[in-house]
Amino acid sequence: MHEVSICEHLLGILDHEARQHGVTRITRLKLEIGRLSCLDPDALRFAFDAMALGTIAEAAKLQIDQPPIRATCKDCGAATELDSRLETCGSCGGTRLDILGGDEMRLLEMEAA
Ligand SMILES: [Zn+2]
Repeated sequence: MHEVSICEHLLGILDHEARQHGVTRITRLKLEIGRLSCLDPDALRFAFDAMALGTIAEAAKLQIDQPPIRATCKDCGAATELDSRLETCGSCGGTRLDILGGDEMRLLEMEAA
């Protein structure tokens, strides 16, 4: 399960950040997950809730954002945003799109008590 290793990674980052800032409890987290990352937000939330038990993030509320995929059209040059890889250019309907990212996971915000 991919989500488990992502959570391990995330908890490692949180632990490190918390130590650096002298934080003992994390109350809220905001993550961004690219739509092309193959991560399921529900599965990630589930894994996080289970794995955060006993850690500083135990009581953290996890908020997950899935921003649209950004792409540039090779036909008309327009910058467009897609909900899935199967969509076409919003300006000309072209299918030759340069996908710019969309497969990353980022920690956007962390709130501590
Ligand atoms: Zn286009």
